[in-house]
Amino acid sequence: MTKITIAKGDGIGPEIMDATLEILMAAGAQLEIEEIEVGEKVYLAGNTSGIAASSWETIRNNKVFLKAPITTPQGGGYKSLNVTTRKFLGLYSNVRPCMSLHPFVSTKHPVMDIVIVRENEEDLYAGIEHQQTDEVVQCLKLISRPGCEKIVRYAFEYAKQQNRKKVTCFTKDNIMKQTDGLFHQVFDEIAKEYPNIENEHWIIDIGAAKMADTPEAFDVIVMPNLYGDVLSDVAAQITGSVGLAGSANIGEECSMFEAIHGSAPRRAGQNLANPSGLLQGAIMMLNHIGQMDVAERVQNAWLKTIEDGIHTYDIFKEGISKQKVGTKEFAAAVITNLGQKPSILNPVIYSKNTALNLPKYKRKPATHKQLVGVDIFVHWSGSNPDELAEKIKRIENNGIQLTMITNRGIKVWPEGFRETFCTDHWRCRFKSTEGKEVSKVRIIELLKNALDENIDTIKTENLYEFDGRSAYSLGQGQ
Ligand code: NAD
Repeated sequence: MTKITIAKGDGIGPEIMDATLEILMAAGAQLEIEEIEVGEKVYLAGNTSGIAASSWETIRNNKVFLKAPITTPQGGGYKSLNVTTRKFLGLYSNVRPCMSLHPFVSTKHPVMDIVIVRENEEDLYAGIEHQQTDEVVQCLKLISRPGCEKIVRYAFEYAKQQNRKKVTCFTKDNIMKQTDGLFHQVFDEIAKEYPNIENEHWIIDIGAAKMADTPEAFDVIVMPNLYGDVLSDVAAQITGSVGLAGSANIGEECSMFEAIHGSAPRRAGQNLANPSGLLQGAIMMLNHIGQMDVAERVQNAWLKTIEDGIHTYDIFKEGISKQKVGTKEFAAAVITNLGQKPSILNPVIYSKNTALNLPKYKRKPATHKQLVGVDIFVHWSGSNPDELAEKIKRIENNGIQLTMITNRGIKVWPEGFRETFCTDHWRCRFKSTEGKEVSKVRIIELLKNALDENIDTIKTENLYEFDGRSAYSLGQGQ
């Protein structure tokens, strides 16, 4: 018997959770269920996190969490509870299998069977955003070495365990050379440890196009958080419906299982929703907690039901489907099929507990870090970069000088183009004039001088070299 936490969520959540639990129990799942309330009601009762402190205790004690989708109210400072849960519990890996069910579910891609392994904790989802000038807001994209190592290793270990042949990495490291560059670099390092698994890297734009057009070219695809979020919806949708795919969020101690889709509020309360996504999440949960026999029985009954043409509205198609059913009737059909196997779709055999025991991340020895300059960001409403350069040069001190100004990344001084559009957010790059190392005292002096000159500094970024390697981007056009 495994004790799990469940939350029925919002919108279609309660209906698909009831259907899922009914199927699991009928199949003989050994589950003791503790229910918590999360989502809209909790938010609207004034709790901006969408969850009570006591519910966190329940989730942490039980360690395994089956969660229906929740609605994040728009605006009003409500933070997404999904993102918070993944991060609080260290659920670094988000596994999203997307498989076609041809010829029983209409799809342009009959042989598609891919698994998206999405980094789940960092990237732009750190949610660190600021407005800095009248015209400019920023979102910080954070990528860490442990984050990359953990997710890439997870993808290869998953491929090994599931007898998958290839792991593909998607990034945009031709543009984001530091952040996506690190993800790609770590992928290349770890891929070497798995000589029996093919590996490849695609730039995300053409990779995404290829995945939408020829998904059979891919097997396991690992990617940073935002890309994985977007592309897993695409992948699920092109198998036939976003309502078909489940998702496992895995951490070192806890795990959370869900559907990949949201709460579909317009479909709520009408016995319309397809419970398959949450059911697929629940099957991953059963495999994770060692109840593989139950998982196998449920999955084969589900495949048989799909094969019998008993379909909810989202996948119902005249000529392919036999019977259009609601959430409850679909669940009842799966229960009737327990013990049976599909005859055309491949029946599954689950023999392995899928929980992976990965080595803990080990911090590497520190490298030699040298401060070689600073970018000072300035809010200035003028338009002529030469004028700004003249002002900024007044704050130079001995040992540090202005070398470049950019506007949204593009170099505008020295030798900018008249045609370049400039907003009110300027990056002024200072480098050392004497040798390489810059003392932090010099930076503080620069900021003090800027204050005296009435220059509105909004933030600084130190420029470092690590073991003699420049670790900051050049200006575009530099
Ligand atoms: P959504 O996935 O809820 O719905 C998009 C459309 O997909 C729906 O209109 C419906 O036509 C279809 N659909 C989705 N699930 C279905 C199912 N099980 N059966 C049949 N059709 C289904 O996306 P959205 O409308 O952008 O988001 C609605 C709410 O869900 C938002 O508040 C959002 O924040 C939240 N959301 C929650 C999660 C989560 O809890 N993990 C994930 C995504 C979105």
